[in-house]
Amino acid sequence: MKKILVANRGEIALRVMRSCREMGIKTVAVYSEADRNSPHVKYADEAVCIGPPPSNQSYLLGDKIIEVCKQLKVDGIHPGYGFLSENASFADKVTKAGIIFIGPSSEAMNIMGDKLSAKAAVKKYKIPMVPGTDGAIDDLDVAKKAAIAAGFPILIKASAGGGGKGMRIVDSIEDFEEQMNLAVSEATSSFGNGAVFIEKYLASPRHIEIQVLGDTHGNIVYLFERECSIQRRHQKVIEEAPSSVLTPELRAEMGRCAVDVARACNYVGAGTVEFLLDENLNFYFLEMNTRLQVEHPVTEMVTGIDLVKEQIKVARGEKLSFSQNDLTIKGHSLEVRVYAEDPSNNFLPDIGRLNTYRRPQGLGVRVDDGFEEGMDIPIYYDPMISKLISFGKDREEAINRMIRAIDDYKITGVQTTLPFCKFVLQHEAFVSGNFDTHFVKKYFTPEVLVHSNDDEMEVAAIIAAKLFHQQLAKNTVVSVNEVELVSKWKTNRLT
Ligand code: ADP
Repeated sequence: MKKILVANRGEIALRVMRSCREMGIKTVAVYSEADRNSPHVKYADEAVCIGPPPSNQSYLLGDKIIEVCKQLKVDGIHPGYGFLSENASFADKVTKAGIIFIGPSSEAMNIMGDKLSAKAAVKKYKIPMVPGTDGAIDDLDVAKKAAIAAGFPILIKASAGGGGKGMRIVDSIEDFEEQMNLAVSEATSSFGNGAVFIEKYLASPRHIEIQVLGDTHGNIVYLFERECSIQRRHQKVIEEAPSSVLTPELRAEMGRCAVDVARACNYVGAGTVEFLLDENLNFYFLEMNTRLQVEHPVTEMVTGIDLVKEQIKVARGEKLSFSQNDLTIKGHSLEVRVYAEDPSNNFLPDIGRLNTYRRPQGLGVRVDDGFEEGMDIPIYYDPMISKLISFGKDREEAINRMIRAIDDYKITGVQTTLPFCKFVLQHEAFVSGNFDTHFVKKYFTPEVLVHSNDDEMEVAAIIAAKLFHQQLAKNTVVSVNEVELVSKWKTNRLT
């Protein structure tokens, strides 16, 4: 492969291109009119505008992207995550056009893209499942019986659901019928597929997922787990590797199961097998994601393996260059997702301009982002600004380093989720490792963020001091110590 087109934008497009460069592979960016000045466009060797800002007129136009590949003699497409990354018919078209799709086969995507067909596919292996129904429910009486057998509360899940959407919790039999009807009509309108099934709603689960990697020669390995229990509305916000609750035996057991899940669909490339873990450390298969995950960097940090490079090598038909026994976990890594959202106002997107944008630096800090100071955050896409990743010799060091990096990260112009992330990292339940997927609901209220205004005040004070200096420079020369000014300003404000 000499030239790869990255069918994505933002941080993940840049992240993929960096690995390509290291491998001596040329890159092509595609972009919408809203992303004309984005770093991923500037970083690529070639870049092509594919349409107006809305993704259904640009980043989701598979045929147009394939056309660009033909014109520029591209030999591989990396889809990143989101957009076309789990679109089996796109993967098929890419392959039929004689271009390598850097990802699994469309068959594997089809099987794992649907939660019910995924469960059916892994049946022949010994994989623990959450108690519930095996297939889609179409008879209300049968559904009621299954719900009673699983025991309330239960979840009604859309088979085609994803991204934390398409799930309804039902607490008692009285609500069941109404919720069933709502779930089916919601699944039909949101996913174009009304199939739903029932799962027991686990009271206090942790979300643990296993990274797998398979080649075209039948080798599949697992690269250990990521703990993703810190979630908002079933969506991950902080991830880490390793999990503080897995024993080496449990890790190996979950790893083996994950490899079996991958084997069940002849998986090739990087994929993630998601499990829930209950209070008694029983684990249950949830689903498989057939792409590179947002949170993949924590795995890279603790294994030392560049997952994108491995994806490319496997797509070129190479054998994995390591076996399971070669893999070890070294140190600890955390990732926080930094969103342009206001945590003190129900996490409403806070779109605007990044007036100040200064990244944290130093040992063990990695920032995967797609923005520069002065850029606007477009309203058309996910409002994630960056992923801030820390690495330390152990969990404590990784946490302390992350808190330091959050403090060093200077962003003005938009509200961000950084203060919320700092709150989580400092919370006793997080520090002790004693938490589940309900952490945010249990402990977070906007009031807990009041004290973090200190940081914002400091940024505001620095800006005020700078402006003051500029004014002074224009008129008379007076020596004013900026730091002193900042501290005075803060004292004035605080008293
Ligand atoms: P999606 O495809 O939308 O991400 P998942 O099935 O992967 O849906 O589940 C997302 C999250 O929802 C999990 O991480 C967990 O927090 C919660 N969840 C899913 N199934 C259950 C369950 N049976 N019991 C309790 N929580 C669940």
